Amino acid sequence: MATLGIPQNTIEVLQKYNFNFQKKFGQNFLIDTHVLEKIIEESGITKDDFVLEIGPGIGTMTQYLCENAREVAAVEIDKNLIPILADTLSAYDNVEVINDDILKVDINKLAEEKNGGKPIKVVANLPYYITTPIIMGLFESHVPIDSITIMVQKEVADRMQVGPGTKDYGALSLAVQYYAKPEIVAIVPPNCFMPRPNVGSAVIRLTRHKEVPVQVNDEKLMFKIIRASFNQRRKTLANGLNNAPDIHLSKEVIQESIEELGVPVNIRGEALTLQQFAQLSNIIGSKIKFDS
Ligand code: SAM
Repeated sequence: MATLGIPQNTIEVLQKYNFNFQKKFGQNFLIDTHVLEKIIEESGITKDDFVLEIGPGIGTMTQYLCENAREVAAVEIDKNLIPILADTLSAYDNVEVINDDILKVDINKLAEEKNGGKPIKVVANLPYYITTPIIMGLFESHVPIDSITIMVQKEVADRMQVGPGTKDYGALSLAVQYYAKPEIVAIVPPNCFMPRPNVGSAVIRLTRHKEVPVQVNDEKLMFKIIRASFNQRRKTLANGLNNAPDIHLSKEVIQESIEELGVPVNIRGEALTLQQFAQLSNIIGSKIKFDS
């Protein structure tokens, strides 16, 4: 099968199967061989790797993954794409297509079965409507992961990569950077897709930290604190924590904890680094224990 990265080949397949794009599934298929080659190169996959692809579409990138990896599992929600994938991937015996919603797949089990529980690589041109739940699901469920190389909305890639003091900095930046090192490796314009999305895109590689970069006693508490601080952007950190429905802290405890951290009490959440959020959650955690 000729590469689907060439627009004419994609059009032929779509016509052969009379395929209708489904907006609700975020279907924007890649039609640019340079972008495909760049993703494969930046993902660093080798013939030793098992790769999970999320949303193979008509199999455009899957073909490249099959050529470069030992084994591939591709999870696709749209049942109308399954017969097409059987056709476009018929030359490969190292791929399994799974017709399911990625958010419902037990990826730990898949990594165990396909890769003996060793770290896997994830490569995908993601459906943008569920980018965050997919990434957070992969990290929080402690799936053994080496790296995640994904196409996302440009604005979301920026949010993952930035540090404190920038407008894009928020809960997503901190969550991603707690688990991985993010690097934007390509900017991709809308004309590289069919149909064209109305937003710019970027490829970002998230390389999982071997060890978490900060010492935190209670991850869940830290993420509750992070979410609370960014829920009300223009408010101070103290107000954000005070108004958080899922952490019950007195004004005094909040005030004391911020003082102990050594920052001004009227500081805003968006000025704190990951290191400071970890410290703050350790301070608050010890006070909560002390109280109860
Ligand atoms: N990989 C293909 C490419 O690059 O041309 C298609 C990428 S397209 C942006 C996203 C794909 O994810 C679509 O094929 C869509 O049907 C699929 N998808 C959407 N939601 C999904 C979900 N919850 N689980 C699995 N696949 C999903």
